[in-house]
Amino acid sequence: MATPAQARVDLAAVRSNVARLRELAGGTELLGAVKADAYGHGLLPTAQAVLQGGAAMLGTAVISEALALRDGGVTAPILTWLITPDEPLDEALTRDIELSASDVRLLDEIAEAARRTGRTAKTHLEADTGMSRGGAPATDWPGLLDRAMKLQAEGAIEITGIWSHFACADIPGHPSIRRQLEAYESALKLAEQAGAAGSHVIRHISNSAAIVTLPEARYDMVRAGIGMYGLSPIPELGDFGLRQAMTLVARAALVKRVAEGSGVSYGHLHVCDRETTVAVVPLGYADGVLRHATDRAEVLAGGRRRRVTGRVCMDQFMIDMGDDKLSAGDEVVLFGPGDQGEPTAQEWADTLGTITHEIVTRIGSRVPRVHEQRSTE
Ligand SMILES: *Cc1c(COP(=O)(O)O)cnc(C)c1O
Repeated sequence: MATPAQARVDLAAVRSNVARLRELAGGTELLGAVKADAYGHGLLPTAQAVLQGGAAMLGTAVISEALALRDGGVTAPILTWLITPDEPLDEALTRDIELSASDVRLLDEIAEAARRTGRTAKTHLEADTGMSRGGAPATDWPGLLDRAMKLQAEGAIEITGIWSHFACADIPGHPSIRRQLEAYESALKLAEQAGAAGSHVIRHISNSAAIVTLPEARYDMVRAGIGMYGLSPIPELGDFGLRQAMTLVARAALVKRVAEGSGVSYGHLHVCDRETTVAVVPLGYADGVLRHATDRAEVLAGGRRRRVTGRVCMDQFMIDMGDDKLSAGDEVVLFGPGDQGEPTAQEWADTLGTITHEIVTRIGSRVPRVHEQRSTE
């Protein structure tokens, strides 16, 4: 490779992870969440692999992500669930993006866009069953159903989904899980009574963590994100047969001997207690190597684990090679599936006190995503 760094994405792993998640979900239809540039994996190639792996639908947080999928030639159904007042909705409708609504205000905006464009807006109604994020709370749910039924009768919208989202599915046995399922059942019952839950309406509540722990929450579709990228939704319970798709590598920009007593990087947090070889790795916090990795996270270089040495800078960090050999241009692996002894994304997340979602989505736009077909399927 000629670039200083790359995020290699194994699309064969993505495909087999999607197939594995569908198997874990007992064959239920699957929406692939490809928001945030497919969790940092590169939107279009990854989305295509997700569809090839068997996803029936794609999901994005915001409209611009859905339009980018359409611009890239994706014709599969797409659902977008985070819409802010006064966003231009006309293009979303003309390009057949399904929209989620949590309140009457947005339903009315969607209906206006539908009248302007002459389209019928496919709309998923979101119930807040206990996360207090998106969705209509129980007190507002009947009013939302009411308005949706009125707009459906006018032909402005078509209710195509009724859904919700778990707050604690990654904490098996958390009492909120039962409560959310009960609240979702109540919301569905009210929807049925209002005539808003016809047989074509897709019910969905499960994320990756729920797919692997809650067979009773599958309904008509599950929504997978993190698992598709081969990262465990519940690391304490194992890898569920998923394979990490992303490998983050850089090539050493400079390798040199430094004298005993040399301070390394800003603040001289690390001082060499003997003469040693220092390698400069051309990735920094602007590329998603969090500053918090300073003197903590490990990489694979010259066949062995090395710790990030001294402060992570904006564009680079250093590793202390001791007396081991490394040449400028040699590859340093920050994380990968772990086969070669490199750390996994999970290890980075554990070391930094975060979740793998954050590790992979923070990788900056300066790092090219290189898509490969690697895993043996
Ligand atoms: C991101 C997201 C998902 C996927 O969640 P994972 O935990 O990554 O599987 C599902 N549904 C919604 C609404 C989301 O925002």
